[in-house]
Amino acid sequence: MLKERSLIGKTPENIGKKVKLYGWVHIRRDHGKLIFIDLRDATGIIQTVFIPSNKEAHEVASTLRSEWIVEFEGQINERPEKLKNDAIPTGGIEMLVEKVTVLNESKTTPFEISTETEVGEETRLKYRYLDLRREKMKKNIRLRHNVTKFFRDWFSNDGFLEIETPMMTKGTPEGSREFIIPSRLHNGKFYVLPQSPQQFKQLLMVAGMEKYFQVARCFRDEDQRGDRQPEFTQIDLEMSFGDEGDVMDLIEKSVIDMTTKLFPDKKIQKNPFPKISHKESMEKYGNDKPDLRENKEDPNELAFAWVVDFPMFEYSETDKKLGASHHPFTHPKDEDIGLLDKEPEKVKAKAYDLILNGYEIGGGSIRIHKADLQNKVFQTLGLSEKDIQERFGHILEAFSYGTPPHGGFAFGFDRLIMILAGEPNIREVIPFPKTGDAKDLMMNAPSEVPEEQLKELGIQLKKQ
Ligand code: ASP
Repeated sequence: MLKERSLIGKTPENIGKKVKLYGWVHIRRDHGKLIFIDLRDATGIIQTVFIPSNKEAHEVASTLRSEWIVEFEGQINERPEKLKNDAIPTGGIEMLVEKVTVLNESKTTPFEISTETEVGEETRLKYRYLDLRREKMKKNIRLRHNVTKFFRDWFSNDGFLEIETPMMTKGTPEGSREFIIPSRLHNGKFYVLPQSPQQFKQLLMVAGMEKYFQVARCFRDEDQRGDRQPEFTQIDLEMSFGDEGDVMDLIEKSVIDMTTKLFPDKKIQKNPFPKISHKESMEKYGNDKPDLRENKEDPNELAFAWVVDFPMFEYSETDKKLGASHHPFTHPKDEDIGLLDKEPEKVKAKAYDLILNGYEIGGGSIRIHKADLQNKVFQTLGLSEKDIQERFGHILEAFSYGTPPHGGFAFGFDRLIMILAGEPNIREVIPFPKTGDAKDLMMNAPSEVPEEQLKELGIQLKKQ
């Protein structure tokens, strides 16, 4: 079947040739005796024409409805000059259809695929597979693919290995509640979905991999404030023997290369990216991700900047307990290590955030690579010796086997794509997102599970 198929995107190269196209009926227009059908596949849309003298094809064409799946055979012709449309790549051509086969019919879709009319988000999410047929979403998914591929190639070319890390693991504290998975084989015990691959990527540095990256799915069970998703994507990386400057330089270079190559119309406002201290940012802008654009109306302006010199710890607003501002694996500034005991709130961290147009699009740090310092930071956070051993014994032990200095970074990939695509929220750039209250309206998740399954897991639900 596919051997004979031509893709609509390639049809402009086939003028004068007979080809076979497969796709979806985008729109049908009856113009007196002529029937025009815009045919769509993943690569584009082409105008096709049915003439009455080809009775058989013309009759079938008159029955076709939007979103039916069809096979068209016919000749690609140049359109008469005055009917050319420069706005689309196939605007100079059309297909004169000789033979039609209907491969599948379609119910009337809950919203039109061929227009950009506003559709309520709940409907779009329930029928995401139809929403993704629309050009705007297709464009965003393509853009996302292109940026993912760019970074994959870029980091690979720089010697980074793409390595997968487990999804079923043990908690790693990065300041959020974790999703847990009950174990059937070990009743009463739980796996945890990773908030990020943080501990594994550090253990890969212990393992001597030196340069790691991953397009990583992360899970955080947060109350859904603002534009968040319970699962989201990071481009996550880690490298050995680098300092803060090395990691920031590498990230900056990758971002500039990506933007110049994939988004030539966009302007990077300042290159190299300005660095601003956390203190200055708070004092001057009242937050730690200032929007530094000169003209916020300009959709092509990209104001990247680094925020550096973060405090290592902060007191939680709710229980006034000391917590790690980034995560507890972040290395304190060398000159501040002496303050850990008495004035931890004065300790600064070797941490950096990358901001873009008022959003944090990534962050990272140089890590602690020695067991005694790591232990000290856990103690500063108020963990008991028993807690430390239970939760972090594995990483402390790993650090005792020749761990190189290391550091890394993770892009909040959905947000980066959102800004590059000019979208107002990350759901517009995630193929199958959840709603603001963490529901998947298409799959109808979360959902109840059979009693039997709960029993196997040793779980009994409390009656609500
Ligand atoms: N794991 C960190 C995060 O998810 C990123 C990093 O420090 O590399 O924010």
